[in-house]
Amino acid sequence: MISAPIQLASYLFASILFILSLGGLSSQESAKRGVLFGIIGMIIAIVSTVLGPGVEGQVYIIIAIAIASVIGISVARKVEMTSMPQLVAILHSFVGLAAVLVGFGSYLDPKTAALTGSAHAIHLVEIFIGVFIGAITFTGSIIAWGKLDGKIRSKPLLYPGRHMVNILLVIACIILGYFFVVATGTGGMMPLIVMTLIASFIGVMLVMAIGGADMPVVVSMLNSYSGWAAAAAGFMLGNDLLIVTGALVGSSGAILSIIMCEAMNRSFFSVIFGGFGNAPTGTAKAITGEATAILHDGVADLLEEAKSVVIVPGYGMAVAKAQFPVYEMVNVLRKAGKKVHFGIHPVAGRLPGHMNVLLAEANVPYDIVLEMEEINDDLPETDVVLVIGANDIVNPGAEDDPASPIYGMPVIQVWNAKNVIVMKRSMATGYAGVQNPLFFRDNTFMLYGDAKASVDKINGELKG
Ligand code: NDP
Repeated sequence: MISAPIQLASYLFASILFILSLGGLSSQESAKRGVLFGIIGMIIAIVSTVLGPGVEGQVYIIIAIAIASVIGISVARKVEMTSMPQLVAILHSFVGLAAVLVGFGSYLDPKTAALTGSAHAIHLVEIFIGVFIGAITFTGSIIAWGKLDGKIRSKPLLYPGRHMVNILLVIACIILGYFFVVATGTGGMMPLIVMTLIASFIGVMLVMAIGGADMPVVVSMLNSYSGWAAAAAGFMLGNDLLIVTGALVGSSGAILSIIMCEAMNRSFFSVIFGGFGNAPTGTAKAITGEATAILHDGVADLLEEAKSVVIVPGYGMAVAKAQFPVYEMVNVLRKAGKKVHFGIHPVAGRLPGHMNVLLAEANVPYDIVLEMEEINDDLPETDVVLVIGANDIVNPGAEDDPASPIYGMPVIQVWNAKNVIVMKRSMATGYAGVQNPLFFRDNTFMLYGDAKASVDKINGELKG
C-alpha cells in the first residue's frame, strides 16, 4: 500500500511521461519511444491508483485487470491492420461507457449524498456533464465503428430540421440538469436517466449525419470526446491524474481534428455539429472518355523509361498488404538511378497516419515520403505516378465538381504527371462512394487486380 504523498508524486511522474509520450508521437522516428513512455506512464498510474489510499478490494480489481488484459491483448494481436480504425472507434466507446457508469456510480455513492452546499451542487454538475459527454461518446463511437466496418452505410443521414432537433434536445438536457441538481436524495435519478437517453440519441444522430469523406475527422473528434469523458470521470472520482490525462487526450484530439479539417478544407464546426452546410450542390458532372487497361509488362516498360516516379498509396494498399513488395520495387527503381518518392494524403486509408504506419512497417526511409502539398508541386515534372489502392484522395472531382460529396477536399493532383497507373481490382468507388473521373483520363491506365499480386508481377518483370 502506498501513502497519499507517494501517490501524488507517482501521478506527477506519470503525467510527465504522458506529455513526453504525446511529444514522441509527433514524428515517426520518435513514435516508438513515445509509445513506450505511454505504457510506462499507464503502468505507474494504474499501480499507484490501485494500491493508493481509499481503495478497497484490490484482489478483485487485479483479477478484473488480468482478465481485461488477456482479452485486450488477444483482440489487438488478432486485429488486421485494416480493421485498426474500427478497433480505435470501439475503444473510444468504452471510455464513453465508463464515464456514464462512473457518473451513475458516483451519484449513488453515499459520499456524494454526504456533501453539502456548493460542494454538493458542483459535484452534481460534474456528474451530469460527465454522463452527458460519456453517453454522446459511447453511441457516437459505436456508429463510427459501424460506418468504418461497413455495417452502417457511409452516406450521411440528413433530414430537414435536424439542427433544430439537436438544439432542442440540448436545451431539454439543460432543463433536466436543473431538475437533477435541485432534486433531493436520489430524486435526480430520473432526470439523469432521461438525459442519458437523449445524449445517446444525440451521439447517434451527430455521427449518422457525417458523410464518408468526413469520417477521418469524426474518428479524431471522438478521440477528443473520449478524452473529455475521461477528464469528467476524473472530476467525479476526484482523481487528478485522470483529469490531466483526459485533458491531454481531449485537447490533442481536438488539435488533430482541426488539422484534419484544414487538410480536408472542411469547417471544424460543420463537421462536429453533424454536417452543417456541407451538402453538395447541383447535379454531378458527367464522366466522359473511356478507361484504358494496361498489363504488368506495360507498366514495367513505363517504369524502365521513367526518370521520376511517384507512388500514391491508399486504403487498398493496406488491404492487399502490398507495402513490402512496393518497397522492394522502390529499391529496384532507385538502384536503376530513378528518383522515387511517396506522396501521402492526410486522410489516405482509414486512420490518421495510416499510410505512414504501413510504410514504416516496411522500413521505407522517411526522407522519400512526402506530404500532399510537397508532392503536388513535383507532379507536373513526374514521368509515372503509381496510384496503389487509392481512390478518393486522387479524385479530380474534389476540385472541379461542386456536386461531388468530396468537393473542396484537397487531393493529390496525380493527373498532372505524364502517365498515371491506377492499381485496383475493379472500377468500384472508394469510401466516399463517388466515381473517379481520373480513371477515364487520356494519361491514366488501369492495372486491374490485387495490389500485392500486381506489384509482385511488376517486380518480376523489372528484375527479369
Ligand atoms: P478509398 O477508400 O477511396 O479507395 C480505396 C480503393 O482501394 C478502392 O476503390 C478499392 O477499389 C481499392 N482496393 C481495395 N482493396 C484492394 C486490393 N486488395 N488491391 C487493390 N486495390 C484495392 O481509399 P483512399 O485511401 O483513396 O481514401 C480514403 C478514404 O477513406 C477517404 O474518403 C477518407 O475520407 C476516408 N476515411 C479516412 C479515414 C482516415 O482517417 N484516413 C477515416 C475514415 C474514412 P477496388 O475495390 O476496385 O479494388
